[in-house]
Amino acid sequence: MRVLPHAAPPRVLVLHGSLFDVRLSGKPVRCMTTTLAAMSGAEAAVFLLVAVGAIVVGLIVSFRRKDAPAAAARSLAVRLGGSFEDGGLFGEPQVSLTLGGRPAWIEYYRGVLNNFQSSWTRVVVGIRGVSPGSLHILQEGFGQAFLKIFGAQDLNVGDEDFDSRYVVRATPESLVTRVFRPEQRHRVIASAQRLRNLRNPTIDLDTNTLIVQVREYVGNERDLMELVKTAEEFLTYVLVASPPTGIEFGEVQAAGGGLCLVCGTALREALVRCENCKTPHHAECWNYMGRCSTYACKGRRTTA
Ligand SMILES: [Zn+2]
Ligand SMILES: [Zn+2]
Repeated sequence: MRVLPHAAPPRVLVLHGSLFDVRLSGKPVRCMTTTLAAMSGAEAAVFLLVAVGAIVVGLIVSFRRKDAPAAAARSLAVRLGGSFEDGGLFGEPQVSLTLGGRPAWIEYYRGVLNNFQSSWTRVVVGIRGVSPGSLHILQEGFGQAFLKIFGAQDLNVGDEDFDSRYVVRATPESLVTRVFRPEQRHRVIASAQRLRNLRNPTIDLDTNTLIVQVREYVGNERDLMELVKTAEEFLTYVLVASPPTGIEFGEVQAAGGGLCLVCGTALREALVRCENCKTPHHAECWNYMGRCSTYACKGRRTTA
């Protein structure tokens, strides 16, 4: 590059790119070109490269800021006293917070799972060591392959309308009776139904976590808050549901030794392993949750 020292500094700088053009004008350009005039060719080239780099990074950052889910998650993190990570350029945003005194996360996923476009948003609460078993609540018509794992089990919670529209599975089965006991049944049902307008909501309790998940990328704070509320309420329902004797609890605690982390039943054929931690899952259970169910593992792909 050659800059003529006495030429009048231009007022407009236009950069042509393959995706978009950047046009700068006014004082910053006069300053830039005056600075450039004082530099050697190599210095000026480096300066220009850095300037263009800064503009591109600025544009990318501003695009990401406009990403609605990230903005909703950031705002919710502030409201609930949690922390927000934007996940960088290619990652997903994540919020860390505390619910009912336990560590919790809001996680997003946007990607492809087994050749299908798959997105989910979930609130995860860590309950390792205090989980009373495995419990799954989903709307009729969703998760058919996953439900086959449980065989003919069809648990009623004692509310005809709810029982006709939702599927409830549990290990041990008595957990359903305790969670949906008459004195709190209407509240538990209301907590589950709060999510009925979101795509394929599920409430899943396993040995490590309580997860409230919908199969969509939740882009507004109000819906995100509904997920958090349902998680917070179910946390209280399941934690007070711990059995008085340790017998059933002991059975469930054996998960990890030959039992699937998601459904709590024996691991048979058609297993997949997490790419990160190699923990085996039923293929149906992995597809249902959309990721690894090992506590704090971020695995989202399986390995042969
Ligand atoms: Zn399973
Ligand atoms: Zn894993």
